[in-house]
Amino acid sequence: MSILSDILEHNAGFVERREYEPFRTDQFPDKRLVILSCMDTRLVELLPHAMNFRNGDVKMIKNAGAIVSHPFGSVMRSLLVAVYELHAAEVAVVGHYGCGMTGLSCERVLQKAVDRGVSPETLATLQNSGIDLQGWLTGFKSPEDGVRQSVAMIRKHPLLPKGVPVHGLMISPETGRLDVVSDGYAADVRG
Ligand SMILES: [Zn+2]
Repeated sequence: MSILSDILEHNAGFVERREYEPFRTDQFPDKRLVILSCMDTRLVELLPHAMNFRNGDVKMIKNAGAIVSHPFGSVMRSLLVAVYELHAAEVAVVGHYGCGMTGLSCERVLQKAVDRGVSPETLATLQNSGIDLQGWLTGFKSPEDGVRQSVAMIRKHPLLPKGVPVHGLMISPETGRLDVVSDGYAADVRG
């Protein structure tokens, strides 16, 4: 059975049995928080449980590494939409220990692309077109650094309104323990 058919078969029963009922909510985050976190599989259920979030409590944005790589990219847009349109009052960037984006090697990823049939000429064409693959396919020196960089990018964003605390946290993917990297209430950066 394929992954998709497995999902669809489950889904038909889920809807039929009205198992969606405990999840009913609206699009506004009850806890008025938007979270940027990592797509790591270990966090899928652990993070909401460890932070006491249920369906409807928060807006959740996820990508590889919880990285805001561009001030006018889709992550920053999502954060701004959460703040302006969906009543999020605070932002939390939640990185995690043991993140796979630590020291991500652009060369290694591109070699795998070539191994899987992407032609070296295509890579050369991209690079000759001025696309900075090295700068794009990159992670961070440490996950804590990644959180600090993302937090800094959000805090100094010209479209973020004043008075929106931006917190930086690290979570353990084993125990769910949270460490505060940067307390958004204490940060005197928006004034
Ligand atoms: Zn990660």
